[in-house]
Amino acid sequence: TKFLLTGGSGFIAAHILEQLLEAGHTVVTTVRSEPKAAPIRKAHANDISSGKLEVFIVPDINAPGAFDNVVKSPNIELVLHTASPFHYKFSDPQTELLDPAINGTTSILRAVTASCPTVKRVVITSSFASIINDTYITDPNFTFSEKDWNPITPDQIYTSKANAYRASKTFAEMSAWKFVEEEKPGWDLATICPPLVFGPLAHHIDSLLEVNTSNERIVGLAEGHWKENGIPPTAVYFWVDVRDVAKAHIQATLVSEAGGKRFLVTAGYFCHDDMVEAVGKEFPSLKEKLPQVGTENGVLPPADKICKVDNERATKVLGIDWIGIGKSTVDTVKSLDKVDKLI
Ligand code: NDP
Repeated sequence: TKFLLTGGSGFIAAHILEQLLEAGHTVVTTVRSEPKAAPIRKAHANDISSGKLEVFIVPDINAPGAFDNVVKSPNIELVLHTASPFHYKFSDPQTELLDPAINGTTSILRAVTASCPTVKRVVITSSFASIINDTYITDPNFTFSEKDWNPITPDQIYTSKANAYRASKTFAEMSAWKFVEEEKPGWDLATICPPLVFGPLAHHIDSLLEVNTSNERIVGLAEGHWKENGIPPTAVYFWVDVRDVAKAHIQATLVSEAGGKRFLVTAGYFCHDDMVEAVGKEFPSLKEKLPQVGTENGVLPPADKICKVDNERATKVLGIDWIGIGKSTVDTVKSLDKVDKLI
């Protein structure tokens, strides 16, 4: 089966790419620049030479017709759109976050609809950011699931960087469902909504300063910043391992029942003390860099001050057997240690 995967240089996408190639699929992937393409070509040299993998440069997903060239690749059947900015290093949320998130999404959907009659399904990487509603975060009687939409409004994008990111994901996902409703294309849509994603790196980075946003906190932990400066606030108490996120994307393209559905892809609760304890147990050399456990930012809020989450649809329809936070943290630290010595 031939897949189109956008943003192949990303943390999550690199795992999707690895799993697709391992399963024997053919992949066309897009990246922003030649320096992003080179490590992918090197890591998958055999697949490049056998024609199983093609890497296209799409410099700006926000440009009109950005994907028009790549969709000329013949016989694409399944599309995975992961490319979207996830960082807080922007000055203008509209042009740097929302525009590429939303226009990137509508642009790939338009290009696929116009030029790829063989496409059967499109899966988009959305986020728990498009589900979360701050009103219910501390409500023990509220369970978040795929039925929920973040009620964020465009005027809130300037209130905080987190709100800008959440808005970018919410509006991008909404624009995809709206496209399907209005255009009635010959393919169906599924969206993957993960909360915080941790896990080992399958993409290339030159230094830990370039680590993806969600793994930054594990770098901070392993480098001793949590001990020096205190454990940072958790912000979101739900998480998932990147290998499960990748599997969820692929299953969502392949399982017929997944069509037309959103998937809240999460292993459930985690707290920062879970990470501290896993690192302490596995890496004796890091013990002296670890903070004390049992402090406010290390533990979950009391049961009567925290909402719940429902991962039943992803567990059943996509068949995910969730990786635990201990293994995920340990595997992440080992992987980060290969970029810059940590252990
Ligand atoms: P990364 O930053 O590693 O990946 C982001 C990907 O999008 C990269 O391929 C990046 O390209 C590309 N990208 C970002 N901005 C642009 C732009 N303006 N134009 C073109 N390409 C762009 O993070 P993740 O792998 O974590 O993110 C992948 C997806 O998963 C995103 O849609 C994100 O919103 C979503 N997500 C992530 C979560 C997490 O906790 N990690 C949780 C929920 C959702 P480049 O490599 O060149 O920077």
